[in-house]
Parts: sequence; structure tokens; C-alpha cells
Amino acid sequence: MSVWDDVVGQEHVIDTLRAAVAEPRSMTHAWLFTGPPGSGRSNAARAFAAALQCENPDERGCGRCQACTTTLAGTHADVTVVATEQVTIKIDEVRDLIGRAVRKPSTGRWQVIVVEDADRMLERTTNVLLKSIEEPPPQTVWLLCAPSSQDVLPTIRSRCRGVVLRVPPVESVAALLVSRDGAEPEVALEAARAAQSHIGLARRLARDAGARERRDEVLKIPAEVASVGEAVIAAGRLVEVAQAEARSATEERDAEEKGALLRALGAEAGETVPPRLRSQVTELEKDQKRRATRYQRDVLDRAMLDLLSLYRDVLVTQLGAEVELVNTAHGATVRMLAGRSTSVRTIEQMNAISTARERLGTNVSPLLATEAMLVELRP
Ligand SMILES: [Zn+2]
Repeated sequence: MSVWDDVVGQEHVIDTLRAAVAEPRSMTHAWLFTGPPGSGRSNAARAFAAALQCENPDERGCGRCQACTTTLAGTHADVTVVATEQVTIKIDEVRDLIGRAVRKPSTGRWQVIVVEDADRMLERTTNVLLKSIEEPPPQTVWLLCAPSSQDVLPTIRSRCRGVVLRVPPVESVAALLVSRDGAEPEVALEAARAAQSHIGLARRLARDAGARERRDEVLKIPAEVASVGEAVIAAGRLVEVAQAEARSATEERDAEEKGALLRALGAEAGETVPPRLRSQVTELEKDQKRRATRYQRDVLDRAMLDLLSLYRDVLVTQLGAEVELVNTAHGATVRMLAGRSTSVRTIEQMNAISTARERLGTNVSPLLATEAMLVELRP
């Protein structure tokens, strides 16, 4: 085993990173990992960080030594990982990182800083970072991750060495789910296919029968909705499910954060908030509400992507293309939908789904966007 085991379907990238670890004198101090969502950018960056810190001179990135295991577990003292769930990375956070970047490693071989969403930095913040990336201390390595190199400022891009990840093959993702998560091979393969090789999603589908069921429910909608009334009802249900999922995902964390804030301010969790602390608690609650709204939109967007994959299957069936379906388990629905319309109509329906996704990204109410989409999906 080694730290590279979980970097699936990226052999070309692993070779480059291994070579860099083996030749510390010609080390590049800033790297930019890019690749489509779910291709495992941050995973690859963490594996690289572990290999850089590895204490095993015969096999850097052995996966067994203290440095490898603590890096992968996120507890290595000289590896900092910034992952944000906020819309942007705050300038103060970046200042902290820069402070860290000038320090010598305490026990490790390098001071490694991983920024998982380098695309979520405003220009002003990026400019603060620039100087540090330009002239880093000899033992500091920056690993930035973004969906594509266009997502970061040219000034940053030009100072980084690029690592481009590709969409891993379905079979490799399935194999990972079997070896690392102990999934049943059949479930793993179907999950990897349904997630279109998005590793995180595939893992969730393989692990969580509830997530598989919800996806199946979404894919049944096009065959069931015939009238405008039915479209409106189905839209309401879809939005409700998204709300419920957002609530269950955020509730526990919200309560923990509120408790932590109150303790930090010297109040007891559970007691009424003293008036002098109210504004800070209100501020936190506003942030949490924003997060829940974003989560709900993400869940709905996911449902729309699933529908898009179904219509993609319908289209390839109508065109008689010899490619594998994404939704093999829904073959009957795909054939039924393919038989009752034309490829031109299917493309219109795919456009309607894309429009709904764009609307979700703006301030349109999720319910209205979903209703308009489902009305358009009727036969
Ligand atoms: Zn090691």
C-alpha cells in the first residue's frame, strides 16, 4: 500500500508527483491541481503532501510511517489544509496562512499548505497570497486546487506548476469503493456509473441506501408526470425532499457551533442568550441559514444533474449510439421515454433542465425554477 492508492485513474499525475518528491533540490514551491468536480483534486494534493513529508527514504509516500498517516488523517503539524464551505475564502484566513508559510517545519521535511478551493478567493485576497507564492522560504510548498486553471488569476497561474486530473474511469472508481469502503462490487459499479465517476458522490451512493432511493425517485419523475398539475405537485415534493436533506445535514452542526460560540462568550448553552451577546448569535444564525439555503440548492442541483443524465441516456438511445447507459438500472424508463418522443424534443428537455440549473444559481425561487422545468418535461 502507499499514499497513491486512493488517487484513482491518474497514473500520469502520480508519475510527475513521485518524480518531484524524489528530487527535492529541483522542487517547485507552488502547484496548481485542476480537474473536474469529483476527480479527486484535494485527494491528490493530500497524497502529494504525505509523500513530501514521508520519513521512509526508500519509498517516499509509503503510507505506513507516522508522517504519511498523520498527513492523510489531517493531523500533521506541518501540513495545513484550508477547505471552505463559505462562498469565499476570507482575507484574514489567507493572512494566517502566509504567517504559517514563513515558518520552518517543526518536525516534517516541508511546510505544506493546501488550499482546496483556490477559486473561491477574491482578487484582493489573491494579491495578498501572490507575494508568498512568488518568493517562498526554501522549505515551503503551496498546493492550490481549483476546477480549472481559468478559475484562478493569471498572476497565480503563471507562478504555479500545473497538475491536470482527468475524469477517472468508472471501473477505477468502483474498484476504489470496493477496496477502501468495502462496498459490494455490483453496488460499487452501479454507484460509480450513476455518479459519472464523481468519486465523492459515488461513495455516498454506494454507502447510503437512502441516497440511492432518493436518486431513483428523482429518475422516476419524467415517466410519471403528464399534466401541469402533476408537474407542480412533483416539483413541490422535490423541493421538500431537498429541504429535509439540507436540514438533516446542517442541524447538528448548527447546534454545535452555537454551543461553541456561547461557551466562548462565557454563557451556558441552553440558557436564554443574554442581551449583550444577542447580536453575535444572530450573526451566526444568519450564516447558518445561508449555508442551509446553499445546501438545499446543491441538493436540487444534484437532482437536476441526475435528470440530465437520464435524458442523455434517452438521447443516445434515440440516436442508436453504441454507448453504455449512465442509468443502467433505469433502462425500461429510458426506452419508454425514447420511444415516445424525438431526439429534437429530448434536446429541448435537456435545455429546460440546464435553464432550471442556471436559475437556481440566481435568486429565482427554487420551487418556481423546478416547476417550470417539470412542466417542460411533460410528453
Ligand atoms: Zn511514509
